[in-house]
Amino acid sequence: MKRVTAICAVVAVALLASVNAHAVNVGNIVVKRGVADTVYKAKHLVVGMADPGAEFKVNGNNVKAYKTGTWGIELQLQPGDNAIKIEDAAGSTSFNVFYSTTPKAVKRDLAKEAAEAEKLKFYPANLMVVTKKYAYLNYGAGTDRLGGAKINYLPEGIKMYADAENENLYRVRLSQNRYAYIPKSQVEVAGKWAPESDFMQSNVVLSESSSVYNAGDFDRVSIGVEDKRPYIVKEYNDPHRIVVDLYGVQCNSNWLTHKGGLKSVDHIDVESIDSDVTRITVYLKTKSSWGFTMDYKGGSLNLDIKHVPDQLYLKNLTIGIDAGHGGPESNGAVGLSGLKEKDMTLAMAIALKNILEKQGAKVVLSRDSDVGMTIRERQDKFIENKVDIVLSIHCNAGGGPLSSLGTSTYYRYNVYKPLAENILGYLTNMDGVNSFGMVGNFNFSLSAITDFPCVLVETLFISSLKEEEMLADPAFRQNMMENVAKGLSDYVKECRIAEGQAKK
Ligand SMILES: [Zn+2]
Repeated sequence: MKRVTAICAVVAVALLASVNAHAVNVGNIVVKRGVADTVYKAKHLVVGMADPGAEFKVNGNNVKAYKTGTWGIELQLQPGDNAIKIEDAAGSTSFNVFYSTTPKAVKRDLAKEAAEAEKLKFYPANLMVVTKKYAYLNYGAGTDRLGGAKINYLPEGIKMYADAENENLYRVRLSQNRYAYIPKSQVEVAGKWAPESDFMQSNVVLSESSSVYNAGDFDRVSIGVEDKRPYIVKEYNDPHRIVVDLYGVQCNSNWLTHKGGLKSVDHIDVESIDSDVTRITVYLKTKSSWGFTMDYKGGSLNLDIKHVPDQLYLKNLTIGIDAGHGGPESNGAVGLSGLKEKDMTLAMAIALKNILEKQGAKVVLSRDSDVGMTIRERQDKFIENKVDIVLSIHCNAGGGPLSSLGTSTYYRYNVYKPLAENILGYLTNMDGVNSFGMVGNFNFSLSAITDFPCVLVETLFISSLKEEEMLADPAFRQNMMENVAKGLSDYVKECRIAEGQAKK
C-alpha cells in the first residue's frame, strides 16, 4: 500500500475531473478512474496506478503498468450492471459499474450560455476607452480557451469609442465602416463620448509626411500621424511585405523620404483604402523575417523592422527558450502519475539550452527554476535580451489517457511556418512519436508578439499514459530536444541561403 499515499496527492488533477474520488485497491493496484456508479457510454476507461511494470488482469485482460506506474484499459460494457474484476497474485477485488442506456438529463445548456455571454448590449451613449499597455484587438465577440481571435497588439494611449459590450469585451469603432472588439481588462474607461453625427468630422485625423531610415539594428518607418489611432498590421510573403492599415486616419502623406543604407526596407506605398483608412505597405528586401516593433512616439507611428542578422549561423544568434508554466500557480497539465508539465518543460528547456550552447549559440531562458511568470514577463525578458528567435516548450493534454496523439508545432504568422515545419519534421521522424500536426494562426499570446519569430512546440501529450512515460524519460527528452535543435539549425540555414549569405 506504500504507493497509495504517494498517489492520493495527485488525485485532484485535471485528468480526473468529473470522476468519482474513491479509489479501489488490490494490493498495490489502484483504480483512479473508471469506478463510477452509473455511466452512459458503453466504452468505459479504467485507469489507475500500480508498481511500475506490474502485470495483472482486468476482467481477464492482461494489463501492464507503464514505467511511470500508470495503467489503463478500455472495456466494453453491457447495459445494466457490469462487474469489473481486478486480479493479481496478491488477490482480487471487483466492483460494479451500471451502464444506463437512458440518456443523462442535460442540466445546463452550455451552448446557450456561451451565446448569451457573447451577445452584445448596446449603449445609449458611447464610452470613450483608452488602451492600456499590451492591449490587443479581437476580430469578433467570440471566445475560446485562449481568448477570442486576436488581430494584433496596440500601444497604450489609443482612444476609441465603444458602442456596445458583452460580458468580457467592448465593441469599438475603428473607422466609419470597421468595428473590432477589445477585452474590457485592457482599456481604461475615460468617460462618455458622443461623436458628432458625422463620424468623419469628429474622429478623423490626417497622416503627415513620413520617412524611412536605417536606425542601427533595424530600419525605422516613421509615419506622421496627428493623433494616436488604432491599426491592423499584417506581414505577408511573396512579395515579403508588412501592411499597416491606420484607422480613423485620412491619407495626406505627400512626402515619403527614403534615406540611404536601408537593409530591410525596399520601398513603401501609401494609399487610401477608405475615406478614413490609410494603408502603408512596406515592401521588404529580405526573404526571412526577424520581427518588428510598433509604437507611437512624438507625433509618429514608428514601425521598426529588424535587420537580418549578419552571418546567419547558430553561433551568431541569441535564442530565447521559454519553459511553459512554472511556480505554484501554474503546473500546466498533470499526468496521471503526477508528472507535471512545468517540470518537463523546464527540464527540456535546459536540455535544449545545453545543446544549442554547444553549437555556439547564446541562449536566454525565460525561467531556469520553478517560478511563475506571466506571458508579459517572458516577452519583456526576451525583448530586453534582444533574442533573435523564441522557442516555447510545452506538453499537450486532451484526447484521453489511452490515446497517443503525438507531437505538434504552432505558429501565429505565416512567415514563421518554415521554422515550425522544420522542427515538426524532425520530431515526427523519432521512433514512436506520432504527428498531431502543425497549427497556424495560433492564438497563443507569446506567438502573437511580432517582436521576434516564435514557434511553440507541444512536445507530447502528458495526459496520454504512453506519452507521459516517454516524457518522464530523461534520455527521450534529450533526444527530442536534439531534434528541435536540428529543426532550428536547418531553418537558420534556409534563411542563410535565402538571404544570399551562402550557396545552396
Ligand atoms: Zn502548456
